[in-house]
This record gives sequence, structure tokens and C-alpha cells, in this order.
Amino acid sequence: MALDADLQAKIIQAVADGFDDQIAFTQGLVQMPSLRGHEHAIQDHLHRTLQSRGYAMDRFRMDHAAIAAHPGGSKITEGHSDAPIVVGIHRPRQETGRSLILQSHLDVVPEGLHDMWSDPPFSGKVEGDWMFGRGAGDMKAGAAANIFALDALRRIGMQPAATVYVQSVVEEESTGNGALQTYLQGYTADAVLIPEPEDEKLVRANVGVIWFQVQLRGVPKHVREMGEGANAIDAATRVTAALREIEAEWNADKANHPHFEDEAHPINLNIGKIEGGDWASSVPSWCNIDCRVSLYPGVSADDAARQITDRIAAFAASDGFLKNNPPKVVFNGFYAEGYVLEEGTDAEATLANAHLSALGAPLESFMTPSYLDTRVYALYNQIPALCYGPISRNIHGIDECVSLSSVQRITAAMALFIAEWCGLEPAA
Ligand SMILES: [Zn+2]
Repeated sequence: MALDADLQAKIIQAVADGFDDQIAFTQGLVQMPSLRGHEHAIQDHLHRTLQSRGYAMDRFRMDHAAIAAHPGGSKITEGHSDAPIVVGIHRPRQETGRSLILQSHLDVVPEGLHDMWSDPPFSGKVEGDWMFGRGAGDMKAGAAANIFALDALRRIGMQPAATVYVQSVVEEESTGNGALQTYLQGYTADAVLIPEPEDEKLVRANVGVIWFQVQLRGVPKHVREMGEGANAIDAATRVTAALREIEAEWNADKANHPHFEDEAHPINLNIGKIEGGDWASSVPSWCNIDCRVSLYPGVSADDAARQITDRIAAFAASDGFLKNNPPKVVFNGFYAEGYVLEEGTDAEATLANAHLSALGAPLESFMTPSYLDTRVYALYNQIPALCYGPISRNIHGIDECVSLSSVQRITAAMALFIAEWCGLEPAA
């Protein structure tokens, strides 16, 4: 069904009419510091919000055994969230359209040093076009857009003529196990849309991500006998240099990976955290390095993990100290493969129409170099998985913010997309 111009205008206006409420709701989400393992309150809030709108509700926990048994399951270690996954379900009176999942995650990454932020990290402060706060862009604005796009249809007396699942997950920033659990729970649809902050573009291809920790153990000594000790922190710098070599090799292979060949540096290895030693005057006997590296779509997490483990072992064998104290590599988070959104799906064409109507410009697509939950729906549900959302700045950084005018445009495009993909019927 192609939407006529009059209906399109009404939907875009309905998004505008609800936008003050949408900003206030988004701000409320940003003001809840939903760090890993602390998402229970915000998931309850989402649950109440969807329930109050009349959606049928489902809430479930992650099944650790089922996740561990699935090839797309990431490693579950200490710190893994046990917050519930929440799903609001819209059922039409008559299922005549195509069903849809609208997904978002409400976990956020740590805010970093507060004194580096212009305002407290969970302020939700609005200044001009921007709303600030950890998670504002990634992706509380998107979580709100899922709800308010559906609200806009109701505001004109309509609702989707197909089943719509509004999924709110956690663990997107560390394992992707929340999204995987929705699949293991049996949820699927004809398409999924995830409004991550993607600069008003559609993600065409996305890398996989794995996390690992290299554990080095040295020999503790007083510094006066330093020559006899083995400094685990010094050893860590040698190991990270070896890891940079794998990163360079994987980047050099980009020509063999469609969608990535024109990127300057598609594979990023991040040395994210380093911890070690006990005392300024003792030779450190231990050091742990937490790393994250990306993989091209089509490369399995197992294969990448093997390459990393083998490389570190080979380097250790060549190192005077490490050959007697081989480092241990522990995979402790993301263990996820990348995906490619194949061109030519109806879902993409529908989104492109909606985008053109709401934004007045053709929809562009691009590749992204960081983990996305969309991979679960692309690889396992095997449905068109659309990742598309607003303009943001500094996600995972300092002074993260999201453009409110962009959020409004994207919400309008989403409402148009839902209307065309699912069809419409008079609201219940
Ligand atoms: Zn995100």
C-alpha cells in the first residue's frame, strides 16, 4: 500500500504534535543511569509505559544455557546483566499487513570521568537542538522513537494492521545476548527496525565484535632486584604491539571484503582497559589487558578467536620472559559475527520511501565498524534487519548528545514506514 500525500502529511504532523512529550520521555530515560547490570528500573519503566498504552506485555530473563549453546551467544561472565527483556505486543483486529519488530537497547556504557563533562553525564539537558547525556543518542532517543512513532498513528485514529513487537533489551553494549534471547524466546517478524544513532542513514554492512582479556603473570620483586623480576606491565606493552600487527593484517585484507574495501581502517582493535600491579615500588606480578576487536562479516567468532590466541602464543614463544610465563587469553564478552543487509528487499524500499517523504532526500546506506544487535535478526531470524536512526555526537565519549530535530525527522520516517509496511486500520 502506498500512502497518499494527505495521509503522509497527517502522520508527519502527528509526530510533530507529540514531539514535546517525546522529548520529555527521552529526557526521563537519559536521567536513569542504566549502566550494565543496573537496567532493572528502566526496563520496569518501559514495561509500564507500553502497558499503559494497551500493549500486551511479555517479560523474560536470559537463559544462560540456551545462549551458551547457540553459536551467536556471547560469553557470560561476571558482570553480565540479569535485567529482564521487555516486549510490548500490538495485535491488530485483522492481520492484513506485514509484521514488524521495533527494537532498542537501554543499557549504556560507563560515562567516564565526570569532570570532563560540561554537565553531569545523566543530566538530559537540552541546549539548542541537542539533548545531552550518556545514552541520549545510544540509544534512548531511539527507544522513545519506537513508542512515539506508534503513538503518532494512534493520534490520527489509526493503528498497524499487523503484529508489532516493541522490544527493549539490555546487554547490547557488552554481549548482544539480550537481542539473542528474543530470538531464542521465539520472537520473529517480517522485518526489524532498530533506530540506533546512524546519522539518518541505513546500515548496509556491519562488523562482528569479540572481547578478550590477555592475562599476564610476572615475578614479584622489590625494585632493587628488578633485573631478576619480570614486569607484567612491561610485558603488556609488548603483547599489545603484537596485537597491533594482527589488526594491521586484517585491515590489509579489506579488498577481499565487499562494503569494506573503501574504508580507510575498517577493523579497529581497542585496548580498552588495562589493570595491573599493586605498588609503585614492587615489580608488578600481574597485568590484565581488556581488548575489543572487530571482524568482517562472514568471519566466524571462533575463527577470529583462534587467530588471536595463536598469535599471542606465537609471540610469547619468541619473548624471553613470556615463553616461560605464557599469557592466558580469556574471551569474556562479545562473541558476535557481522552481517550484510542484502540490497533489494521490500523492507528497504519501504524505508527508503518513508525516508524520502519525511526528510526530502534519498536514503543513503553505509557500513558501520561497531557491534549492532541487528546481527541477531539478520543472521538467525534471517529477516530484513534495518538499522537506521538519528544524528548524534560523541556516543561512548564525553558530552554525548543527540539532535532533536533529527529525532523528529527519523520518528516521522519510522511512523510512515510502519504505516506502509504494516498497513493501517482504525485504532481500537
Ligand atoms: Zn547502541
